[in-house]
Amino acid sequence: MTGFRDSPETEDVIILGSGVAGLTSAIYTARANLRPLIVEGRAAGGQLSLTTEVENFPGFPAGVLGPELIAQMRQQAQKFGARFLTGDATGCDLRASPLALSVDGKEFRTRALIVATGADARLLGLESEKKLIGRGVSTCATCDGFFFRGKEILVVGGGDSALEEATFLTKFASRVTVVHRRDRFRASKIMQDKALGNPKISVAWDSVIQEIRGATRGKVEGAVLRNVKTGEIREIPCEGIFVAIGHVPNTRIFEGQLDLDPSGYINTVKGTATSVPGVFAAGDVADHTYRQAVTAAGTGCMAALDAERYLERTTH
Ligand code: NAP
Repeated sequence: MTGFRDSPETEDVIILGSGVAGLTSAIYTARANLRPLIVEGRAAGGQLSLTTEVENFPGFPAGVLGPELIAQMRQQAQKFGARFLTGDATGCDLRASPLALSVDGKEFRTRALIVATGADARLLGLESEKKLIGRGVSTCATCDGFFFRGKEILVVGGGDSALEEATFLTKFASRVTVVHRRDRFRASKIMQDKALGNPKISVAWDSVIQEIRGATRGKVEGAVLRNVKTGEIREIPCEGIFVAIGHVPNTRIFEGQLDLDPSGYINTVKGTATSVPGVFAAGDVADHTYRQAVTAAGTGCMAALDAERYLERTTH
């Protein structure tokens, strides 16, 4: 993107994203007196704000609610002088010096940029799915499970997310069918044992959803499943479909400007450095392997320290 004018003020650090990674970067850069500006984005709080109980974040033996943890981190960052701006980064010019950024049409300049924009839920790509999203099709069991009390639902996917969501959804649903395209799950054994041992959960192996019924009436009424091995087609009536098939990194505005891997995740070197000096990446946007809250916090800290050292090197 080009055409940025000189804006009146150049920030030391702008952080894109307010999930665990972005907020940890905010705490560290704020404590280093860099007065970071955090662009919160439309999905403020990241993945943790979509979860309920988090039991594996160190320091919380009784567990902590995801949104509560995020709220505490935000408060901690603010206490040290972090500033928050609600909006989406809509463009950037990373060849510019200082780096240029557009947030909902407003221009910003910054000496260092920390990208912590996370990754969004992947969808099946069906036309009927697009029409029914929010009308029975969901990507967040913890957000929408409540609406399916006593109803039959499907969960698509075979990873930890799918089985975790399926297990969680049995609290509400009368029956949960996990639709998986292969004959074995990739989820961890503990998650598989929990799901497969749950009498409300059954599995449609080697199956994909070919069509979601109900688009013309604006609500999910069922799904057409195709067995990928036998070609058999069958229809399952259901009122909800939860799609849990992984995530897509939020890197569209960086295409052609930052080095990305084939799936669109930011490639980092030597910690959190990207292919552009002064631009650092933290959290899920650069991590398709670990994707944990604590690893996002870890890389958020690293990006802050890397940005701080970069600023020391280049501005003194
Ligand atoms: P994931 O591990 O990438 O699994 C995605 C699943 O969706 C796979 O089973 C995949 O099938 C399937 N899939 C992908 N594209 C599909 C398509 N177009 N149509 C149908 N199925 C499709 O993603 P995830 O479950 O979201 O987990 C991401 C990471 O977070 C993992 O490292 C996971 O361990 C971690 N996680 C941990 C916890 C926990 O420990 N509490 C909870 C959730 C997630 P294939 O298996 O055939 O590829």
